[in-house]
Amino acid sequence: MTGHMDIPFVSFKPLENELNLTEIFERVLNKSWYIGGDEDKAFEDAFAEYLGVRFCVGCGNGLDALMLSLKALGIESGDEVIVPSNTYIATALAVVYLGAKVVLAEPKLETFNIDPVEMEKAITDKTKAIMPVHLYGQPCDMDKITQLAKKYKLMIVEDCAQAHGAKYRGKKVGTFGNAAGFSFYPGKNLGALGDAGAVATNSRTTADKVRALGNYGSDYKYHHIYQGYNSRLDEIQAAFLNEKLPLLEKTNMFRKQVAKRYLSEIRNPGIILPAVPEYADPVWHVFAVRTENRDELERYLLERGIHTNKHYPIPIHRQKAFKGYFEGKYPIAEEISRTELSLPMYYGMTDSQVEYVIETINEFGR
Ligand SMILES: *Cc1c(COP(=O)(O)O)cnc(C)c1O
Repeated sequence: MTGHMDIPFVSFKPLENELNLTEIFERVLNKSWYIGGDEDKAFEDAFAEYLGVRFCVGCGNGLDALMLSLKALGIESGDEVIVPSNTYIATALAVVYLGAKVVLAEPKLETFNIDPVEMEKAITDKTKAIMPVHLYGQPCDMDKITQLAKKYKLMIVEDCAQAHGAKYRGKKVGTFGNAAGFSFYPGKNLGALGDAGAVATNSRTTADKVRALGNYGSDYKYHHIYQGYNSRLDEIQAAFLNEKLPLLEKTNMFRKQVAKRYLSEIRNPGIILPAVPEYADPVWHVFAVRTENRDELERYLLERGIHTNKHYPIPIHRQKAFKGYFEGKYPIAEEISRTELSLPMYYGMTDSQVEYVIETINEFGR
C-alpha cells in the first residue's frame, strides 16, 4: 500500500498548467471588446462543428441554456415537461422559470439515467417536452426516448451539462433533440473560468430565437421582438473555451482511462460500480459508485486523504424549494441520494493517485 496521499475530488491545475491563461486574457484585453465579438463567434462555430450540429448559441450558463431552449420551443404556463427525478435542480428550475410544470420520472438504478418506461408513464395530454439528462457523462437511452417523442409528438431538450463529447451509438449527445443545453461551469468536462453555457440545435429558427431571447429579445440593435433576458457568452470566457475545446478529446480520453482502471481494479463486494450499457460511450464527468455504507465510506476515504462528493444528497422532491410541489413517490431517486458516492476524477490524476484510491477502496470494510 502506498503511503498516505491527499487527493482532491477535482483539480483544474494539470490542464491549466498546459495553457497560457494570462496570454489568452491579454488577447481579449488588447481587443477591448467584451461581449458579442469574434471569440464568441469562433467558439460557437467550433463547438457546433465538434458536436456535429448546425448551430450553437453561447449564453450565460447551463441553466439559461436549458431555459432559453425551452422558451424558444414555445414551452409556457400550463405545459408539462418531464425531467428525471435524480437530476441536478437546474433541469427542473429551467422549467419552472417559464411557469410550466415539472413532472418527475424515475431513472434506472443501474445507469442513473431516466427510464423510458417511467418516462412514458409520466406523459399526459399536457406534456410538451421531455428532458433527458446525460447524467455523470453517461448517455441516455436515446433510441427509446426519440421513439417516445415521435409517438406522443413531444419535443426533446437534452441536458448535456455533464456530457460534452459523450456518444450514444457513435453519435454525440446534444444532437438528438430539438435543442440541447450545455454548461461550461468550471468543473464540467469543458469548463470556462467562470459561468458560461451554450445551446446546440439543428434548427435555424430555434437558434435565432435563443440568440434573440438571450439578448433582451432583440433581433437587431434596439429592436425588441420578445420580452427577453440578458444571457450572453462573455468574450473572455469564449476565449478560454476556444483554447480548451481542442483539448477536450484528450481530457475525456484521460477520464476514460481512469474510469477503466476503477472499473477493472475496484473489487469490493460492498461497492457497486457504474454500469455501461452497450450503446454508451460515456465521458465520466462523475464516477459514481453505490454502497449501503455510503457515509461510512465517505468518512473512511476522507480520513485517508481522499476527497469525494455526492450527486446529489437531497433529491429535488425533498428540497425545501419544492415543498408541496410533487405528489408522487420517487424511491429510486431516494435510493441514489442515500447510496451514491462520487470518486476523484479529473484530467492529470497520477497513476499512483488512481492506484491509491483503488487500493484504499478495496480495503474498505475488511
Ligand atoms: C451544471 C448543471 C446544470 C447547470 O449548469 P450551470 O452552468 O451551473 O447553470 C444543469 N444541469 C446539470 C445536469 C448540471 O450538472
